[in-house]
Amino acid sequence: MVNEFEIKKQICDIGRRIYARNMVAANDGNISVKLNDNEFLCTPTGVSKGFMTPEFICKVDAQGNVIQANPGFKPSSEIKMHMRVYQKRPDVGSVVHAHPIYATSFAIAGIPLTQPIMPEAVIALGCVPIAEYGTPSTMEIPDNLEKYLPYFDAVLLENHGALTWSTDLNAAYMKMESVEFYAQLLYQSKLLGGPKEFDKENIKKLYEIRRKFGMPGKHPANLCQNKDGVNCHNCGGCSEDYKQFPGYQYDFVGSECSKEAAPAAANSDAELVANITKQVMAQLGLK
Ligand SMILES: [Zn+2]
Repeated sequence: MVNEFEIKKQICDIGRRIYARNMVAANDGNISVKLNDNEFLCTPTGVSKGFMTPEFICKVDAQGNVIQANPGFKPSSEIKMHMRVYQKRPDVGSVVHAHPIYATSFAIAGIPLTQPIMPEAVIALGCVPIAEYGTPSTMEIPDNLEKYLPYFDAVLLENHGALTWSTDLNAAYMKMESVEFYAQLLYQSKLLGGPKEFDKENIKKLYEIRRKFGMPGKHPANLCQNKDGVNCHNCGGCSEDYKQFPGYQYDFVGSECSKEAAPAAANSDAELVANITKQVMAQLGLK
């Protein structure tokens, strides 16, 4: 078991890394680590995360109330957002919030990271939705975040930044790097004429790799696996669970294993055919 002082040093190291990688400006961003069910370490408000030393780090309880903070330091104003993640996800040991340039640009433009374009992003993240905007430091952010927590390990915060969580500090930080790298690739490939997306077969293979590795956390692949005991990917059932999230655009509907999805797909096909027929008839002057 790593002692508390060691964890404080690790938080400072990660703070330096997010600052050095342009993931935060000035005093932005915050980091927290779970020690046990009622003790959490977190970064203080109003300091640059690139220049912290262990005595900067505060300790709070599960409600975000201060347990210990050195004079001049107060826990992050966004601690409630972190606490909501721990509350809803007992598997999580650390939460990282930053404003990385590309990921935040997508959050500001209102574009979720949902295009399956590279193996690592599909395996590690699946996709990254946008949690609806909330005023910083209020309960709006945790409340808007909540519905995403059971299904994802990373979200963009609308017009604000990105939030990632995982089993431990390093993993939560790595997730932030992955989100930013994915966003940057997506941005730059759009400039080059638009990314070529993986087809369902390739997504399926990547999900299988994720399962074989037994990777922790929440991901579309887990849901598919558990869906009625059917071990498949890209199924309509999975899609139904994920469809509640605005911007979730993986086209999972209509694949081999979902009986429920079939009528919906047939309906939309029938509608499409009817519309096309109508247009063709109109063009031919038959209507
Ligand atoms: Zn922020």
